[in-house]
Amino acid sequence: MSRVLDVVVIGAGQAGLAAGYHLRRLGGLDFAVLDAEPAPGGAWQHAWDSLRLFSPAAYSSLPGRLMPPQHEETYPDAPHVVDYLTDYERRYELPVQRPVRVEAVRRDGAYLRVETDSGVRSARAVISATGTWSRPFLPAVPGRASFRGRQLHTVRYRTPGEFAGMRVIVVGGGNSGAQIAADLAYDTELTWVTRRPARFLADDIDGRALFDHATARRRALDEGRTDGGGVASLGDVVAVPPVREARDTGRLTARPMFTRVTRTGVVWADGTRAEADVIIWCTGFRPALAHLGPLGLRGPRGHIPVQGTEAVGDPRLHLLGYGDWTGPASATLIGVGRPAREAARAVAALLG
Ligand code: FAD
Repeated sequence: MSRVLDVVVIGAGQAGLAAGYHLRRLGGLDFAVLDAEPAPGGAWQHAWDSLRLFSPAAYSSLPGRLMPPQHEETYPDAPHVVDYLTDYERRYELPVQRPVRVEAVRRDGAYLRVETDSGVRSARAVISATGTWSRPFLPAVPGRASFRGRQLHTVRYRTPGEFAGMRVIVVGGGNSGAQIAADLAYDTELTWVTRRPARFLADDIDGRALFDHATARRRALDEGRTDGGGVASLGDVVAVPPVREARDTGRLTARPMFTRVTRTGVVWADGTRAEADVIIWCTGFRPALAHLGPLGLRGPRGHIPVQGTEAVGDPRLHLLGYGDWTGPASATLIGVGRPAREAARAVAALLG
């Protein structure tokens, strides 16, 4: 039988790297980080050109190393994050193997059998950190399949130049929807559509305040105090400079959600229509958990029930980074450090 690893971390985005950092720090653990991408940087490699972080660099740091500032920019762009993550895995000599796609994780007696497109690994524990980018979510809107123009999800959007002069409908009231709508607000005939009225955070609130809020919430929950609500209670959209500028010049006014897509556009409940060449769905993501299917751990809403980061049905499995359900702010750069430390410690304790 091939060598049995103590831990296999699946995914080398920020969550997998944070887990690797803490496993390395604990010492004495034989582990590998498997990543499907050919290059470092996780989902940040695929972001659109104008994307800006919603926190300054220092507030977007993984454990152990501050993200350096990006020249004059307060809010760094995605290539800056890719450079930071590339440096991070090199600096801490994290044992990343790529491209290696994990296809399935199965129980195999005392071990977990990790099946990949380049062979099988056996592990005593697994930390899954595969993110959400590979599972874009599109809502089931009547008529969507009949649309003759182009439809794309956030994951395929790159630059406004591609759509210059076109009639574009952007769907989604989160940060992706607002940033992409702001990007397209100048050179296209833009319609921005949100399910509920667009809620901008106050201009002086950015990711720092969101993180503070998440931290206070976690503390309240830990201490059994009343839960004041998630970060969503503050608003949906961080008014980063391009969003603020488009909003302040009246270019970013959202319409309510339409009820139907037609062959040539969309229709609202009152019969109003908008013709369109392109619909961009900025409608979010789902956790990429298909590789864990054979473990039979999925609960309602497709999530795997967890206690902290530990899967309730199997203590050898930890989940990291997918959303608040795996730890407050776990799906952010600055927030993933703490759950990563908890996961690493729990795994080390389990393995003795
Ligand atoms: P990912 O970065 O997606 O990394 C997962 C890795 O796992 C990838 O390399 C992938 O290839 C690999 N993988 C997936 N499946 C497999 C498999 N089966 N086998 C092997 N490898 C696999 N956060 C902030 O802190 N600040 C921000 O300003 C911010 N802005 C955001 C803007 C947008 C538009 C989005 C979508 C998110 C933003 N986030 C922000 C949230 C968050 O930081 C990202 O979602 C982050 O990329 C999540 O990191 P991750 O490591 O969990 O997943």
